[in-house]
Amino acid sequence: MNVRRGSTNRNSGRTAATRDAALHSKLGLKTDEDFVLHLPLRYEDETSLTPVTAAPVGHEVLVEACVERFEVAYRPRRQLIVHTRSDGHPLALRFFSFYPSQLKQFQRAADEQAMLRAYGEVRTGWFGAEMAHPRYRLVKEGEPLPKTLTPVYSSTSGLSQAGLRKRILSALDSIPMDDTLSPMHLRRLGLTDYAESIRLLHQPPPGIDIRSLVDRTHPAWRRIKFDELLAQQLSMRIAYDTRRQRPAPDLGSGGLLTRGFMERLPFALTGAQRRALAEIQSDIARPHPMQRLLQGDVGSGKTILAAIACLAAVDAGFQAVVMAPTEILAEQHLGKFTDWLAPMGVRLVWLHGGLGAREKRAALAAIASGEGAIAIGTHALFQRGVEFNRLALAVVDEQHRFGVEQRLTLKRKAEQSSVGQLQPHQLMMSATPIPRTLAMSYYADLDVSVIDELPPGRKPVKTRLVADSRRGEVLSRIRAACADGEQAYWVCPVIEESREGELQTAIDTHRALEVELRELRIGLLHGRLPGAEKAAVMRAFAAGEIHVLVATTVIEVGVDVPNASLIVIEHAERFGLSQLHQLRGRVGRGLRDSSCILLYASPLSENGRARLKIIYENSDGFDIARLDLQLRGPGEVLGERQSGAPLLRFADLELDQDLLELARATATELLEHDLECARRHVDRWLGGRRDFANA
Ligand code: ADP
Ligand code: MG
Repeated sequence: MNVRRGSTNRNSGRTAATRDAALHSKLGLKTDEDFVLHLPLRYEDETSLTPVTAAPVGHEVLVEACVERFEVAYRPRRQLIVHTRSDGHPLALRFFSFYPSQLKQFQRAADEQAMLRAYGEVRTGWFGAEMAHPRYRLVKEGEPLPKTLTPVYSSTSGLSQAGLRKRILSALDSIPMDDTLSPMHLRRLGLTDYAESIRLLHQPPPGIDIRSLVDRTHPAWRRIKFDELLAQQLSMRIAYDTRRQRPAPDLGSGGLLTRGFMERLPFALTGAQRRALAEIQSDIARPHPMQRLLQGDVGSGKTILAAIACLAAVDAGFQAVVMAPTEILAEQHLGKFTDWLAPMGVRLVWLHGGLGAREKRAALAAIASGEGAIAIGTHALFQRGVEFNRLALAVVDEQHRFGVEQRLTLKRKAEQSSVGQLQPHQLMMSATPIPRTLAMSYYADLDVSVIDELPPGRKPVKTRLVADSRRGEVLSRIRAACADGEQAYWVCPVIEESREGELQTAIDTHRALEVELRELRIGLLHGRLPGAEKAAVMRAFAAGEIHVLVATTVIEVGVDVPNASLIVIEHAERFGLSQLHQLRGRVGRGLRDSSCILLYASPLSENGRARLKIIYENSDGFDIARLDLQLRGPGEVLGERQSGAPLLRFADLELDQDLLELARATATELLEHDLECARRHVDRWLGGRRDFANA
């Protein structure tokens, strides 16, 4: 049904077409293939008329009524009320936004006692049956009803459903819709034909099971979801294979430096660390670039493995680079690498935002000459004008913090830094454990090593949920801990550090604690402090000169101060679960008993309570991620990685796990036996968006 907007179209056909094209491209629709794959969001059933008195509560129905009169009322707010009569029963249609042209239209309709059909939910209001802003259309007496469900497409303002539908139907007729899968595959996978499935979804036949269309369990939906998942698996695997074929320096099994360091390790590696290290070492001893993700919960000890891998590069006469998402984290890496590697004569280069012009020139020169063996800094610094002499390994820490775009830039950067034809090996590290299905889907283009064991002697962090009305008790707890030589974090919920108001909470809390805990030294750390100041505060905290560090989530990733044994998280209900888990991971790193106090503003919403309960009851990052996924759905869990391009439009990783497994197996088979078919399939589905799949 067409919603009348009342705008008269004075534009010439040509400008209307240009305007439509602009609106279409806003929806990402350019080619005929795009339109064909723009599948309905939902369906409306206009195939039968429902008497007003029989309309079920909570369901939208189509009713037919005769227009009697209309009025514009101003209470409780401006609205247009059209009084109609349907089968002898009065029915009022209310519109809260309307155009002058609609008034004219209803005037005419009332004069002629014209019929209309309205689609919406019938409710009982003050004056009898009514519908709030229904979609409607004026009709002639006895006009036939549509025979099929009416698809509703995601659209944008200015673009009518009818216009969009017409464009889609014409696309359906103008491109070949041959199947990318063979009949043998379809039979084996139990899938329906592609063209049939697409047509059915755009024009559902009469009598079809509406529920299965709406909840997307109909075989036609399954076919489309499978195709989408297959395209994703294929494109990521093709990207992986392409990169895997390029040449890279063979770093062998390390040399003198590596052997020397392994003999003098500051601690014995855990079994899980040894397994992951063996996987990394076997990758870099091959003449093709490593593309490995090292996953391990907070505190599982990823950094030392990165250091050992870097040493292998140095041993072989190459350079390595370590990139971190924040300056604080980068400086901490520098500290560790300096402790571990500098005594062996390995020259480290520290690139940070606070370098003066001359220092920066010197650092860049050391990197360019190859004299600097390992460069450490934030990713931002490596995106601008850094030229390596012989880069063999790029380590990206906390890679989940990087967006799709950034990941692409980093990759290109690494690729440009090749030594002749040689590509550097890549090691990504992440402490955000993601459940298996997500990993299968999103990391299909990476090899994954998992450290699933914490170093020995770690004591679990005691977590407590405390209403913020008991803040006084929390302060006493901090006093006692600090009197005992311990240190504490106090984390404030600042979502966007660029917003003055938000940052103020951290500044205010700092000021308040300075008064309330007069005998203690309170530090303040947030993202807007100049780099040098941040570093100074962090150093003072690490050295025990600051007792309580009031911080925003800049401390979320990686910060490692073993003497800190207490963390208070204010407004814990506002944080994401993985964030809370990360924050809690800042304590429990030393020998002391540690606690995490989640302060919440009461009353908690039901969802807020459910979320905090997950953190309270679980200490394993994987379990938390899995529960988080159930609560929020994959889009939010993955955050940035997805935000650059919505890679999945139809399939749902939670609900369609079986399809994902099938798609994965089929991808393997096609890549081995039918590359041509694989390419056709990827082309149909990804067209111009292939670059993103390579991120
Ligand atoms: P993450 O995996 O979160 O990056 P880190 O690499 O920062 O963890 O390690 C956390 C802490 O544990 C560091 O202080 C590190 O030196 C220490 N550590 C790492 N591996 C071991 C081990 N096998 N035994 C004891 N301590 C370890
Ligand atoms: Mg780390």
